[in-house]
Amino acid sequence: MGSDCLFCRIVAGEIPATVVRETDTTLAFRDIDPKAPVHVLVVPKEHYADVATLAQGDPALAADVLATSAAVAEDEGLLGDGFRLMFNTGGYGGQEVFHVHAHLLGGAPLGPMLA
Ligand code: IMP
Repeated sequence: MGSDCLFCRIVAGEIPATVVRETDTTLAFRDIDPKAPVHVLVVPKEHYADVATLAQGDPALAADVLATSAAVAEDEGLLGDGFRLMFNTGGYGGQEVFHVHAHLLGGAPLGPMLA
């Protein structure tokens, strides 16, 4: 996708981000507006608009995103108390950036998911 996509630009190093983990296929960086003590976004380096497109188009890459998310959860000390991993998808899902990203949230009780 490239220059029109915010997260492609972060992957390319054109926009700064606090990167916590990088693999050949994924990048994990801290959310700029954290909603929990730990709030990390995990993206595939290749552009897919949302999790449905990713899962249908490249299931192995979707698995890479999950594996990186789990590794970050371990690095951040979240495995014991638990965490939330979610993909906002499309308009009703509240997605604002259309480069698929997992939100990894933890570090405190998060309460019910739906208000
Ligand atoms: P969405 O609503 O699931 O698309 O979430 C987009 C997320 O990206 C929000 O939590 C934003 O705070 C986050 N975000 C937007 N711009 C940046 C940035 O430049 N760096 C890191 N996170 C960002």
